Amino acid sequence: MSRKRSIGIDLGTTNSCVATINDEGLPQIINNKLGHSVTPSMVSFGQSQDKHKIVTGVLAQRQAVTNPAHTLYGVKRLIGRTYNDPKVQELARSLPYAVISAPNGDAWVQARGMAISPQEISSLVLRELRETATDYFEEEVEEAIITVPAHFDNAQRKATSDAAAIAGLKVRRLLNEPTAAALGYGAHRGADKRVAVCDLGGGTFDVSIVNIEDGVIEVISSQGDLLLGGEDVDRAMMEQIILEVRREHGLDLNEDPESLQRLKADLVQAKHVLSEARSAELDLRYLGKLPSGKVLDYKRSIERAELNHWIEPFLERIDAPCLEAAVRCGIAISDVDSIVLVGGMTRMPAIQNKIASIFGRRPLKVVNPDAVSYTHLRAH
Ligand code: ADP
Ligand code: MG
Repeated sequence: MSRKRSIGIDLGTTNSCVATINDEGLPQIINNKLGHSVTPSMVSFGQSQDKHKIVTGVLAQRQAVTNPAHTLYGVKRLIGRTYNDPKVQELARSLPYAVISAPNGDAWVQARGMAISPQEISSLVLRELRETATDYFEEEVEEAIITVPAHFDNAQRKATSDAAAIAGLKVRRLLNEPTAAALGYGAHRGADKRVAVCDLGGGTFDVSIVNIEDGVIEVISSQGDLLLGGEDVDRAMMEQIILEVRREHGLDLNEDPESLQRLKADLVQAKHVLSEARSAELDLRYLGKLPSGKVLDYKRSIERAELNHWIEPFLERIDAPCLEAAVRCGIAISDVDSIVLVGGMTRMPAIQNKIASIFGRRPLKVVNPDAVSYTHLRAH
């Protein structure tokens, strides 16, 4: 006889993650087939020779640069919204794939000539997470708690539940992400306070002010920027290196998608290394063929200070959502008692410093910002 297994899912804009409660009663992340704790929230519709092959997760991410028009990512920013929503229109201009209007006016996407709802794309990601859990338990998993941004309205929440249903999962509860994060940090234990939850992911920045009174957590305001995240940092790094290679070697990397894909993968890696170390090495053999006919073996070291300089315009955009979140619930920045960081990008020291300077205090220590949400499994 088997009891129903239940899991917690962080269905992220860029990365998703599945967790459970282990035998010791502690939240535990379930690694995917590749041994990774997070799975890219991406779905790619076959390269030209293999048009109908659909891949998800890391396999889709590997095609992001070489097959951009048919590799769908970040659909969480579209789910449950209408095509005419000004935010959707703004977003559509920045995406390499087509956003279209469904017959009922919803924002849908297009790949290989097919019109597809964001719910269907998300369901493919959820299916991969469900399989990860099924492999782990060696039995079917049918229920999940899924986290959603606090500012998601009813349509966005319903669409997320629909995506789960298509993937064969019944949603036990949709939990607000900042609430899950506050629980993850144990912020609900101890004295009453106001907590700012700053979540900087791959493509979005969400700031929520959470009020904790008698152990009850309430999100009192939530601001989101749909076009601010790690992608912007990746883009700034790419532009810089492409410029340098053109200047120094007369080679235009934009003409070679394979080289761009390799450069991007290495730069994202370097960005991660620079959160821990002061410098990171790029070492890309055969990056391209020079006008002279010689092969370019590209090497360069990137200093943390250099990266911080390249992303100055990006760092400036962190202020507005933080200030706005406070204004919206009528509190002063100085009324915030503690700051919780969520999202992969908050591992970056420059981001931590920026947020500290806005609020005038250091954020709580970042243990595992991309997985902080999992304690909610125990609390519910
Ligand atoms: P989301 O919740 O939006 O799906 P995540 O919280 O997983 O996204 O954050 C993804 C972003 O965090 C990516 O841009 C990724 O490159 C970045 N990231 C992950 N780890 C690090 C790190 N160690 N240093 C800097 N950025 C990181
Ligand atoms: Mg997230």
